[in-house]
Amino acid sequence: MGLVADIFHAGKLKRLPGRYAIGHVRYSTSGDSDVRNAQPYYAATDAGRVALAHNGNLVNARAIRTELEGRGAIFNTTSDSEVIVHLLARSREATFEERLIDAISRVKGAYTLLMLTDDALIAMRDPNGFRPLSLGRLDGAWVAASETCALDLIGATHERDLDAGEVVVIRRGRLRSLRPFARASRETFCIFEHIYFARPDSNLQGNNVYAFRKECGRVLARERPVAADMVVPVLDSGTGAALGYAEESGIPYETALIRNQYVRRTFIEPAQSSRDFSVRVKHNPMRGFLGGKRIVLVEDSIVRGTTLIKIVGLLRSAGAREVHVRVACPPTIGPCHYGIDTPTREELIATGHTPEQISEIIGSDSLAYLSLEGLRGIGRQLKHGTCDACFSDEYPVPIDENDVVPQLSLFRLVGEEDDEEA
Ligand code: SF4
Repeated sequence: MGLVADIFHAGKLKRLPGRYAIGHVRYSTSGDSDVRNAQPYYAATDAGRVALAHNGNLVNARAIRTELEGRGAIFNTTSDSEVIVHLLARSREATFEERLIDAISRVKGAYTLLMLTDDALIAMRDPNGFRPLSLGRLDGAWVAASETCALDLIGATHERDLDAGEVVVIRRGRLRSLRPFARASRETFCIFEHIYFARPDSNLQGNNVYAFRKECGRVLARERPVAADMVVPVLDSGTGAALGYAEESGIPYETALIRNQYVRRTFIEPAQSSRDFSVRVKHNPMRGFLGGKRIVLVEDSIVRGTTLIKIVGLLRSAGAREVHVRVACPPTIGPCHYGIDTPTREELIATGHTPEQISEIIGSDSLAYLSLEGLRGIGRQLKHGTCDACFSDEYPVPIDENDVVPQLSLFRLVGEEDDEEA
């Protein structure tokens, strides 16, 4: 349990045996943050040993789990991912790949997977393609990661992205691509990856994240203009949208809030009280620069609103005359059932409040969102179809809300296999 840099320091990594590996990172959520649920999940089956890392959430895991438990299966975790391993172990197909495909054909929802067997690395994306996965090469070996920025960090070249519904098997350095599933009626890549979740230096399925965010800011400035002296981003995720807003509106861009780089992301703090404290520690406004100024404060999204209440208060205490909040996505009105840890519908500030009411709650002079039509217009320029269910309430894979296992699979995948022949 802990941060990657604290746990996997160089000394520990050196002691790990083996020729190839997968890794899995997730942040602590309000759900069951327990070492038993840490992935990769490992099991010895009669098809061989298997380790699995899963990004996304299954929407029918509870029903399958109940059925399997009724037939004597014993689960070690509360994670939805374990269902996949149980189905694989019980499949009567001949080869490992056939058993895996048999297992996967029973689950529904979001699953980008990396699996390690005794002799292969297997990577796959669900037919809807909710979550990303990219393939790269490093010194003749194959690597796979959720975001291309991970490939950049280790000096790997980006070869390509997995298609929705594609299964890639890498064995003895050779890559085989399978497309065993019927195509979903449309690809529904998570648009929130572009808005907030991914790093801006990543390309998601061939689309640059930073460019997307700037475009959201530009459209927002056209849709929701306001007279002001400066555009200020909520760092870091609001930066791209704020730059786009400033460019389009002609209002100067200023980083008038300084971010303390040495404090961990507030999103990893499960308790609301510690999250409030984190905001105060993390952001510091430039007193003496903000006095008497009219600010457009640009944020990528609002979930509960807690962070914005604090930041608007900080700007006012630093002397800002007006604070106008502009949000570079539509109101978040529904939870995500496909692997992003958004809170329940009741906890979302946009559920049951108009933008005017939210503005009053957070203490701003005005507040406005990018429209759903505006976001969809930008989304149509992407090289893939998108899911925008948390903004539109149009869920592309039907949800039985009683079935969804608590959010446990929020992470990034990194995998590597040595090329025996290299
Ligand atoms: S519901 Fe929202 S967060 Fe979840 S996959 Fe769809 S767009 Fe992404």
